[in-house]
Amino acid sequence: MTAALSEIARDRGIKYFQISYTDLFGVMRAKLVPASAIDGMARDGAGFAGFATWLDMTPAHPDLFAVPDPDSLIQLPWKPEVGWVAADLWMDGAEVPQAPRGTLKRVCAAAEAQGYRLKHGVECEFFLLTPDGRAVADAADAQEKPCYDISALMRRYEVIREICDAMQSLGWGAYQNDHEDANGQFEMNWAYDDALKTADRHAFFKYMARSIAEAHGLRASFMPKPFAHLTGNGCHAHVSLWSRDGETNLFDDPAGELGVSALGYHFLGGILAHAPALAALAAPTVNSYKRLNAPRTSSGATWSPNTVTYGGNNRTHMIRIPGGGRFELRLGDGAVNPYLYPAALLAAGLDGLATRADPGRRLDIDMYAEGHAVTDAPRLPLNLLDALRALEADATLTAGLGAGTVAALLKLRHDEWRGYMAHLTEWERAQTLDC
Ligand code: ADP
Ligand code: MG
Ligand code: MG
Ligand code: MG
Ligand code: MG
Repeated sequence: MTAALSEIARDRGIKYFQISYTDLFGVMRAKLVPASAIDGMARDGAGFAGFATWLDMTPAHPDLFAVPDPDSLIQLPWKPEVGWVAADLWMDGAEVPQAPRGTLKRVCAAAEAQGYRLKHGVECEFFLLTPDGRAVADAADAQEKPCYDISALMRRYEVIREICDAMQSLGWGAYQNDHEDANGQFEMNWAYDDALKTADRHAFFKYMARSIAEAHGLRASFMPKPFAHLTGNGCHAHVSLWSRDGETNLFDDPAGELGVSALGYHFLGGILAHAPALAALAAPTVNSYKRLNAPRTSSGATWSPNTVTYGGNNRTHMIRIPGGGRFELRLGDGAVNPYLYPAALLAAGLDGLATRADPGRRLDIDMYAEGHAVTDAPRLPLNLLDALRALEADATLTAGLGAGTVAALLKLRHDEWRGYMAHLTEWERAQTLDC
């Protein structure tokens, strides 16, 4: 039993709580509530107008109530008098079916009923840009192959250190930070954990990185492809399935191919089988498809997949098996919803277990250079519309995620696609003016 939030506030010197939720587009929303009012809010929830956020509601909907989960409390390392809590969404006495955090909890409960617990880790790549978001903030960061550049990393030491110190103080198991493959791009890693815990941390990490960068006069961006010629922001997920008690990694089998169990390969097979539909959640925006299927970047490789294939310790495939007991899904990008991404891959994986899906053969080739030789490998969707249609056609993934979640998401993302198509570009004029 967690102590009342007001009591925790007194003990830890918290003056305000952020009662927060992440909407379907991954935007974090909050109300700032004084500690003196927190117990009432913890019981009844903080009120919101759902239509004002990305939840597929109308202005006529009744109040949305965000009920904080005290177990998710994080005292802001950069402003300790404020406590952040993730909330679950209720309306008219029922849970809101399309709420992303609730969706993840529901899929995790279905897994648990079968004796499984998902654990995952995410790699949140981001750019540090000028405040207007137009350019890489560090003009000296201009190498053609900037990955791991020690000087460019150290010119951002104060920001990176502050975020990493924060993760250490929160006990996340932070273990490395680096300059990534694009100019101005960084990655900071912390240890994997239970799906809901990682999802809350993922949501919080993005908020924290943006907040701390802003205090240093910078803008942190997780946009999938902010610059056409540079490598985009991926969000790889490392995945393993454990026994219900969380003690035994069921993907681990030293005698299995590459140290992965038969169960692990069925799960992986489920991800492959549902990959086109999964793309609608892993690569959820118009911009995502400028990272996938992209031409080679100035660094030499995009590091993002084009086809539904898997390999060993080989970064040119959609799934990489870096070692025993887990695999890495490389489909996701910086725009993923921290809750729906693991929910969707878990739903796909569970279907793989139910159907004893066969992932087919592993490809030990450079997919970028030799991919044309593999003519039977399905290609990933070429744009958001393709992915949305794949999701529409995937009844199993829809049932796994919940029909309410998928319907709301499809509606909002189709609107986004229509908005994009309504936009006339300079490229079209140049291409077509004299047709
Ligand atoms: P890479 O850059 O090689 O893909 P990183 O070190 O950046 O890998 O990130 C690896 C992520 O995988 C971390 O979050 C790590 O905790 C996580 N991870 C390691 N082992 C497992 C596992 N068995 N299950 C799930 N995640 C794991
Ligand atoms: Mg008002
Ligand atoms: Mg990494
Ligand atoms: Mg990376
Ligand atoms: Mg990776």
